[in-house]
Amino acid sequence: MPEIKNIAVIGAGQMGGGIAQIAATAGFTTKLLDPFPGAIDKAKSLHDKLLARAVEKGRMTQPDADAAKSRITYINDQGDAALNNLADADIVIEAIIEDAAIKKDLFAKLAAMLTADQILATNTSSISITEIAAATPCPDRVIGMHFFNPVPVMKLVEVINGLATSPDTTERTIALAEKLSKTPVPANDRAGFVSNRVLMPMINEAFYAWMEGVAEPAHIDEIMKLGCAHPMGPLRLADFIGLDTCVHIMDVLADGLNNERYRACPLLKQLVTANRLGDKTGRGVFDYSK
Ligand code: NAD
Repeated sequence: MPEIKNIAVIGAGQMGGGIAQIAATAGFTTKLLDPFPGAIDKAKSLHDKLLARAVEKGRMTQPDADAAKSRITYINDQGDAALNNLADADIVIEAIIEDAAIKKDLFAKLAAMLTADQILATNTSSISITEIAAATPCPDRVIGMHFFNPVPVMKLVEVINGLATSPDTTERTIALAEKLSKTPVPANDRAGFVSNRVLMPMINEAFYAWMEGVAEPAHIDEIMKLGCAHPMGPLRLADFIGLDTCVHIMDVLADGLNNERYRACPLLKQLVTANRLGDKTGRGVFDYSK
């Protein structure tokens, strides 16, 4: 099978922007696509800022930062035809909203325009890889490649095979993760995999503790940091992940594991309704407007 040289990333949010950045820094020709106005501009200015900071801190030379930037093509086209821009990618990594119906629709469209060797990877935090793969005629080439936030910093990639994922797809994905300087670790295709099966109920419980007045948010976080040696409290972490993403993941856990104890806390859902999504909107549990 051909070596991966060209990477396409769909969704230029927190995760997609980070994946595109590390791909370009590792020497891959990279395309980043997002149809929504403003998303690409935001990702591009974040890349400029983070690469400039890496140079300032001596982690990268200016020519290397310039070369990384020049490897990224930003695509802000609307409509299904925009996907044709990705036809030459060896792997497409999807990092759009955590919604099974929207992801399946995208994978069906992607599969229709790709050639025989391309891998379709999803960065989903919780949705079944088998289910996403079933929306395509090529489930052997669909795989979960679950990066962590912030992508340039976090070493882990959870690699999740769907029921039909071929050994060749798995091998090439693991090799790619290593070339991106990440540590791939396998997990099975059950809702939430390992990371979110364990992490997200803890975050949800922190919202219940807040809602029931057990402690105020800053104290809940302080207790978990000092008492459990967590580097970040669960509520601060929820803001960082995105409260909307947390709700989507809890829904997937509740439905996928068929257990109502995984339903999102009403207070978490209320903050999402109020568009308090965390860092990305400037306010979630905590206020970042200043
Ligand atoms: P985000 O909201 O920051 O970004 C999502 C991006 O996808 C946005 O820029 C949006 O414009 C774009 N988008 C939405 N629908 C689209 C479509 N149909 N086609 C193309 N682009 C579309 O979200 P995020 O935090 O980057 O999460 C993206 C994915 O990564 C989700 O599946 C999430 O579960 C997963 N993930 C998130 C984290 C985290 O900590 N935030 C960690 C690991 C995995």
